[in-house]
Amino acid sequence: MTERSEEHKRNQGKASKYLERFQQTPLPHFINGKSDHSGDNTIENINPTDNSQLNLMLLGDTAIVDRAVVAAHEAFPKWQAMPGTERKHILHRAADLIESRGEEIALIESVDTGQPIRFMKKAALRAAENFRFFADRAPDARDGVSLPAGHHFNYTLRQPIGPVAIITPWNTPFMLSTWKIAPALAAGCTVVHKPAEWSPLTATLLAEILLEAGVPPGVANLVNGIGEEAGRSLTEHSDIKAIAFVGESSTGSQIMRQGAETLKRVHFELGGKNPVIVFEDADLDRAADAVMFMIYSLNGERCTSSSRLLVQRSIHDAFVARLRERIKRIKIGDPLDPATELGPLIHQTHWEKVQSYVTLAKKEGAKVQQSSTKLPNEGNFIAPTLFTGARNNMRIAREEIFGPVLTVVSFDDEDQALQIANDTPYGLAGYVWTSNVTRGHRLAQGLDAGMIWVNSENVRHLPAPFGGFKASGIGRDGGDYSFDFYMETKNVCVALGNHAIPKLGS
Ligand code: NAD
Repeated sequence: MTERSEEHKRNQGKASKYLERFQQTPLPHFINGKSDHSGDNTIENINPTDNSQLNLMLLGDTAIVDRAVVAAHEAFPKWQAMPGTERKHILHRAADLIESRGEEIALIESVDTGQPIRFMKKAALRAAENFRFFADRAPDARDGVSLPAGHHFNYTLRQPIGPVAIITPWNTPFMLSTWKIAPALAAGCTVVHKPAEWSPLTATLLAEILLEAGVPPGVANLVNGIGEEAGRSLTEHSDIKAIAFVGESSTGSQIMRQGAETLKRVHFELGGKNPVIVFEDADLDRAADAVMFMIYSLNGERCTSSSRLLVQRSIHDAFVARLRERIKRIKIGDPLDPATELGPLIHQTHWEKVQSYVTLAKKEGAKVQQSSTKLPNEGNFIAPTLFTGARNNMRIAREEIFGPVLTVVSFDDEDQALQIANDTPYGLAGYVWTSNVTRGHRLAQGLDAGMIWVNSENVRHLPAPFGGFKASGIGRDGGDYSFDFYMETKNVCVALGNHAIPKLGS
């Protein structure tokens, strides 16, 4: 047995042990510091690797959501009054616990989502980093600015907004939820989390970890369920002050409507159809590595994936030939195998959606190239796919496919590259590959997207703003941007003396 297959076997053994607990009773909610088994309705949670049942999950309804919101509402005054230094210690303990349970989190996440273990190990560590980053900033979160003005002195301070809803998608659920929950807790907000119904398991681990770390009961609550029911009730609840949502653009619109009646503050991280622009003067070896990584890692189920390759016509054929060679060698298989680079898509329904674009590409007149590697017999696997000869007005170049599928469009010069790149309803990320520094900066300024990487794949720096233009989102995460969302800014104006007050009726 090779070292790799031994590790694979070990992963499988450990994963089944970790999963046993979820097979005993339907996955409960977590309200006021306790597992909550109320409700009779359940749905199956499916293993994407073979479509067998992993566990059953209880479905939250309006009454259960209400209990969770009441718990968050009642816990808010004490949690917000706790000194930031204490919140800092608690959140660092949460990070320690995430690290110590890192293997368990990664293995469960890998089975539940179909994401290869090689990426999930890093995602668990990133989750701990998210907690540490915002824990360190908790003591200063309330700080404001001083604005002296003649006879008055103005100063600002920030206060946590109140109980918030956090609604997350299925692609990398644990890491993404910490990216929202850590700053909310650091700011002094209390939370009700509604994870995605297709990959709910690690949210329960996070709820347990937070309680063990010392987050008081009621501060971090979890309601499982489907979006249209549990999610809807949460977004409509009058005691929820803000909604942090990560998911599809169309769901974002829906949530905005649901929250309108109660004037919710919203923060949306939505879909993308992100261009990666490769010029003939780029370092083509590095560009090819980045293009491959940004569309075929995480099963292509990644909001910042570079799903539209815009390549200069002069190098188009050679560059595409490189990619064709590389996709043949992508290792497809069981996500728990340490060698696997591409696992199964999350769900059969999603597989059908991604597959439908392969049919569509042919209909639209593009050329479809897929690696001929034999796919596993069961599960939601799809071969890494390239659509070449595409035009930007085709649906395959405009719609988010959210799978390991790259649409290639060629361009002649910089102006045309920019025009094609911006001709999209989305605006999350843009990637530029060129050795011409001034051109790199020019494009960075011209691209209508929230995040631009020049000569780089997506490398995240936690203080930097994360978010999108257009249909890709509203608001920014990261650093102080997160606190601005979870907190209200208050201005205090104090008279410094006896300034003249206008007299009426004297
Ligand atoms: P989705 O919009 O279908 O679901 C996301 C969450 O919203 C789930 O928890 C779901 O149950 C809930 N939901 C659905 N309808 C709801 C409603 N009416 N009210 C309240 N909640 C509701 O998204 P998905 O399919 O789970 O995830 C994939 C999408 O997420 C892609 O579009 C991807 O680009 C996006 N995404 C964006 C980012 C980012 O940072 N911009 C990151 C990851 C994923």
